Parts: sequence; C-alpha cells; structure tokens
Amino acid sequence: MMSDALYRDFNSYLRRLYGCRVQKIIVDAGLTCPNRDGTLGHGGCIYCNARGSGSGAALHSMSITDQLAAGKSYLARRYKAKKFLAYFQSFTNTYAPFAVLKELYAEALSVPDVVGLTIGTRPDCVSDEVLDHLHVIGKRHLVWLEYGLQSAHDKTLALINRGHNVEAFSNAVERTRRRGIPVCAHVILGLPGESREDMMETARFLAATDLQALKIHLLYVIRGTELETWFRAGKYECLTRADYAATVSDFLALLPPHLIIQRVTGDPHPKELISPFWALEKQKTLHAIHEYMQTNGLFQGKNFIPCKRKPRHSTFIDT
Ligand code: SF4
Repeated sequence: MMSDALYRDFNSYLRRLYGCRVQKIIVDAGLTCPNRDGTLGHGGCIYCNARGSGSGAALHSMSITDQLAAGKSYLARRYKAKKFLAYFQSFTNTYAPFAVLKELYAEALSVPDVVGLTIGTRPDCVSDEVLDHLHVIGKRHLVWLEYGLQSAHDKTLALINRGHNVEAFSNAVERTRRRGIPVCAHVILGLPGESREDMMETARFLAATDLQALKIHLLYVIRGTELETWFRAGKYECLTRADYAATVSDFLALLPPHLIIQRVTGDPHPKELISPFWALEKQKTLHAIHEYMQTNGLFQGKNFIPCKRKPRHSTFIDT
C-alpha cells in the first residue's frame, strides 16, 4: 500500500496485531459535550455544529448493540473485516456519570467480534476513575483514547473556542500513558490565524509528546457553525488542496517514524459542507499528498529530531 512507504498506517498495525482486517465502527452513545451544553460557557468550537461529528444514530434510538451489528454487517461485506473496534466518536465520550460510561463500554464489548474500544473525548474531560477502568479493560481488550488537541498554540485554542488549553492536553496524555493506554491525538490544519510555521510548531510539539497515533484533519466549513459566519463575512479563507497537501507532507516529515497515522484528511458530510468542495474528493487529496511527498523526497520521520528525554511511560502494544 502506498502509504506504507510514506507513513505508518493504522490498518497495517491492526492487521499485524490480529492477523486479519479490523475495522472501526462508529457508535453514537447519545452523549453531549461540556463545550456545547453550556457547562464551559463557550458555545462550542467554532467549526462544530449540532451533530458534533456524530452519526446521529443515537437520535434514531439505535442502541450501541444495534449500531455495532449494522456496522459489522456492512464492513464485513465491504472490507471482509473479521474483527471490529467500537469507536465512540460523537461529542465527548467520557462526559457522563461513571456508571453510565461503564455500561456503555461493557455493552460494546459484549458484541461478538468487537475486540476493543476507541474512545474520542476532550482532554479536560477524563477522570482518573474512568482511566483506571479503561486500564482494567485494556488488560483483555484493545483500548485507545483519542484526545482532540487541534493546535499546540493556546492563542489558537482560545480563538476557536476550544475551552481548554495545551496544558490540559499534556496532563490528560500523561495520566493516560501512566496507565499504559495508547493515545491518539487529533490536530486540524488550516485553523484561523495560523501560519505554516505555527502548524509545524504543532508537529514538533506532538513529536516530543508520548503519543502512539495521530489523526490529521483539514479545517472545512460546515453549515450552521460560527466558522460559516466568519467564512461568509470574508474573515476566514480555506486552504487549497495544493497547500493542504504540502502542509500535511511537511508535517508528517517532522513526526517520529513510530507514530501511527490514522488519518491525513477529513470526511465532511456532503450535505453540510460549505467549503472547500475539494474536501469531498478524498482520493484526489490522498493522491496529492502522496505525490507531493514523493516529488520532494519526504516520508514520515525524515525531518524528525529525537527528543533526548525518553517517554516516561512506554507500555504500548507494538509490532
Ligand atoms: S469539543 Fe467536540 S463536540 Fe465539543 S464543541 Fe468542540 S468539536 Fe464539538
């Protein structure tokens, strides 16, 4: 696979771990987010709409079991997948009473062929109690935490209304890794007010953090968001595909070779997308990234400068 030579992909990692195709199934647990429900008093991230990246399945009263059953049958047909990870993606999946979370995670793991959990959440929203529980689950199943950082610059996090700072992210990663749970961080390229060098500084920050995987997203404008208002008022301009491909490539070159790259672009909902429309043509974007890397002799880790300090918590199922 082309990405194998240029960056370390997640599918290959899972195949090495389980010896078969493993697919994530997105589940919507019907939770919310403290940055949307008013708790943090921020009104939500400027690029997030009412769906909060959700599938909406919970709104249609589908249980976790039903969502996983539907996902299994589709992904087994499409990719010949044999094992699955329940991906709690929508909103903040550690933001509920502990007893509720325990039940949700247990229900997902009770579904046949679901071999693990991957839990997307905010770094300011994960308690030691939940981490301790996930550590116990992790002894028998694959468990990943996914934390949204988006940028390593506090000024950007304030501008986009994240409602947490970089320190909150570092703190969450440290507490998670202390328990040996692998962490995937999310970043967004093309955030308002950020220069190319700002984004490269984020890459260097991530390279020096004890992470096991990364998802790189493009910032796109979605209907019903604050960013849409900025865009229509001419206060925000989207990246071009060429700019994005070059930025992702340089970003990847700064990252350590061991980091698993779970994503190099996003998947906007076609009915919600305002701009840029090129974001809908994912294969063309992947091709542009691969072409830029090959033309410029880049690969993941090429410009990585190892940190003298070793990660403090190195427990990680590697292959
Ligand atoms: S943290 Fe996630 S769900 Fe909450 S407002 Fe931001 S993008 Fe939306």
